[in-house]
Amino acid sequence: MKLQIGGFLDNSLVNGAGLRSVIFVSGCCHNCKNCHNNAMQHFDYGDSTSIDDILEKLVKNMPIISGVTFSGGEPFESSLALSKLSEEIRTLGLNIWCYSGYTYEEIIHSEDSNKRRLLSLIDVLIDGEFHEELKEDASKYTGSSNQRIIDVQKSSLENEIILWSK
Ligand code: SF4
Repeated sequence: MKLQIGGFLDNSLVNGAGLRSVIFVSGCCHNCKNCHNNAMQHFDYGDSTSIDDILEKLVKNMPIISGVTFSGGEPFESSLALSKLSEEIRTLGLNIWCYSGYTYEEIIHSEDSNKRRLLSLIDVLIDGEFHEELKEDASKYTGSSNQRIIDVQKSSLENEIILWSK
């Protein structure tokens, strides 16, 4: 299975807690005003990359990384491929953070079972579109203050939104 990606960082400290590899997934329909990366909105931006090739890179980085972050673009537009990738990442023992322009509520109520499946496989969701007028109050890992850093596994268990804490 292939995934269209616009970028890959072997290690980053600013896309979630700890040292992480980051996959920038191409394609996004949210059209946020002053999007931080317009090029990534195009679904054909970047390279079509096999899940196996991505996994190989992650395994090489494993001695130093604690997890993987999906950014974009909009990762939930590639939910099927990312669900397959996430299953493999979880077996490696790495945690998964994911940025999305969709809110947690939009994803759990989505008619698209692949989106719900992907959510079930990630540890932390940073949700909501980018709102430029709220960027001044953004936190370390968010682009604007409307976005929440959600502990997905705890939220699923408790059936309410539980924010991630260190
Ligand atoms: S969700 Fe992200 S990539 Fe998509 S338009 Fe908004 S800022 Fe840009």
